[in-house]
Amino acid sequence: MMIDVKEFYARASTTLRQAMETINASGMQMLLLVDAQDRFERTVTDGDLRRLLLNGAEMGDTLAQLPPLASITAPDGISRKAALAVMDQHEINHLPLIDADGRIVRVLNRRDIGTPILLSTPHMGEAELHFVEEAFRTNWIAPLGPNVDAFEREVADLVGVGHAAALSSGTAAIHLAVRMLGVKPGDRVFCSTLTFAASANPIVYEGGEPVFIDSEPGSWNMSPVALERAFDAAQAESWMPRAVIVVNLYGQSADMDALVEICDRHGVPVIEDAAESLGARYKGKPSGIFGRMGIFSFNGNKIITTSGGGMLVSDDEDLIKQARFLATQARDPAPHYQHSQIGFNYRMSNILAGVGRGQLQVLGDRVEARRGVFEAYRDGLADIPGLEWMPEPDWSYSTRWLSALTIDPAVAGISANQVIARLAEEMIEARPVWKPMHQQPVFAGCRHFAHGNTSVADQIFDAGLCMPSGSNMSPAEIARIIDVMRGILKGR
Ligand SMILES: *Cc1c(COP(=O)(O)O)cnc(C)c1O
Repeated sequence: MMIDVKEFYARASTTLRQAMETINASGMQMLLLVDAQDRFERTVTDGDLRRLLLNGAEMGDTLAQLPPLASITAPDGISRKAALAVMDQHEINHLPLIDADGRIVRVLNRRDIGTPILLSTPHMGEAELHFVEEAFRTNWIAPLGPNVDAFEREVADLVGVGHAAALSSGTAAIHLAVRMLGVKPGDRVFCSTLTFAASANPIVYEGGEPVFIDSEPGSWNMSPVALERAFDAAQAESWMPRAVIVVNLYGQSADMDALVEICDRHGVPVIEDAAESLGARYKGKPSGIFGRMGIFSFNGNKIITTSGGGMLVSDDEDLIKQARFLATQARDPAPHYQHSQIGFNYRMSNILAGVGRGQLQVLGDRVEARRGVFEAYRDGLADIPGLEWMPEPDWSYSTRWLSALTIDPAVAGISANQVIARLAEEMIEARPVWKPMHQQPVFAGCRHFAHGNTSVADQIFDAGLCMPSGSNMSPAEIARIIDVMRGILKGR
């Protein structure tokens, strides 16, 4: 909140009584002594007035008797981070910012500027605690229980799929999907390159080898052209991938019809990594249901969260039953502890499923809020050249889980990474776009099929950034981010 500095001006002619009354009425605990031209001279605190009185001054005397003092100030334009450092160093809570003419532009208040704006934080609704309390009341604290069953059914109904298994993470869901599709050592699996490492890691858990597929410029998601190229190469070399993992980036569905058609033609099943796209739609239908299996994540930074969790969905009931079996240590149906397969401990707890049920009730609101954040950025920065927002094709209804854009440094005069650094100085967290998997040291040597002559994902990575996108940001916070961005991009 901005403090109107003029309310706290005092002059040499101000009496001690007036000064005390103003301080008493204000929340600022100090006055700003200015000269006849409104130029800043020094701050005046309660303590300064007390000392004057102890030295024999009267309430009717003026501030003219105050000795000169080199008060702590900072130049207007100082970053928030630097301003906080000054306040910490001098153990003060208010910092006047002074312009080139010696006048006070504003006073920074630690309480207002001390909280950073983060990329994407959990946003609880009203009902989560109710479901969690119910779990406590009925002592369903263990993994599994009525919240888990209900959460699975509710997610399945929401996206219009037959069956769902609630798991400990989205990564666990991908792992089980990869395993159930029979990926074995030496098998290759196609995977979007522009994604988070958790999309590809489970391939390696099973000894498989990821082959990375480039993005298309129109959606930033897996390019059907690059996918065809990869299948052509595989066919020419007499192998086929065991599966294709298609990622829906930043809340936007990939072009699933085109991708699934190619995979169907080659008889290869699709795993839809919809970790970031719960609530999105593709051609009017919910994201996550276009592959043989789909996965969602409820990690803390995702659009809705169980603090940690995931879901595997499919129309194939046998697959989901098998996933539940594998996720509970693969215990054979026998009274003694018998195992004929290697299992995992991947189930979601009944407590966390309660959080998920509450979050599911507000998913629609969260999607709208995130889309609203994106639109505010796009509108608020519409006149600034060199920015290109992540496109949304006709067939897509994105959740805008993260508001992403690319910046052309030749036009904007500043690079995406420089903007990220400048935002950090203002305690605003922006992040680069995911570093493509084919550029990751851990996947060095894995093959990569590009959309054209060069990699689209590399270009997006080089020029891209993700803005703070939380559904719980206030209009004032969004306005401040836009204001700071405008300043950075206009070279201020
Ligand atoms: C978050 C995420 C995952 C992993 O989900 P977790 O629940 O964190 O294990 C997988 N893929 C993508 C694209 C993600 O963003």
